Amino acid sequence: FTGKTGTELLTEKLKKFKVEEYQSVPIVVEDNVSVYDAICTMFLEDVGTLFVTDDQSHLTGVLSRKDLLRASMGNQDINSIPVHIIMTRMPNITVCKQEDLLVDAAQQLIEKQIDGLPVIVPREKGLEVIGRITKTNITKALVELARDEHL
Ligand code: ADP
Repeated sequence: FTGKTGTELLTEKLKKFKVEEYQSVPIVVEDNVSVYDAICTMFLEDVGTLFVTDDQSHLTGVLSRKDLLRASMGNQDINSIPVHIIMTRMPNITVCKQEDLLVDAAQQLIEKQIDGLPVIVPREKGLEVIGRITKTNITKALVELARDEHL
């Protein structure tokens, strides 16, 4: 008998959940593609957040559903507007790393009121995007915890 309470045991388990185990494949577009093409990608890939990179695959921005909706509401031609005009751009992007705790990524989602984070690796000239963490990934972890599937 360890003398640990149920809550302590749960907390211990939760703190073993790393971003790496729960991340999904990131869906990325280049920053010169049109708003129209980004909307098509979002639908085809069935994601709510797109990450934007330059031609060297370094993170330059994020596009949410509402960013794309907003850009579509005016009388502008969404075929001729590149996404870098409307995206949320670096350095104002909240990111995480594979070795981060999932609970810390979740806290970032709440604090910044966003749906997803890019999982990045810092390179010499920028951030390489290697994954994505969304509210769906966090929900999956929560269900696993409740069902006690995670040792
Ligand atoms: P939606 O806008 O569809 O509700 P979000 O809540 O994820 O989706 O996005 C809200 C705003 O925050 C958008 O303008 C989006 O570009 C921005 N955003 C989304 N993810 C991030 C992030 N990881 N870092 C910084 N800004 C982000």
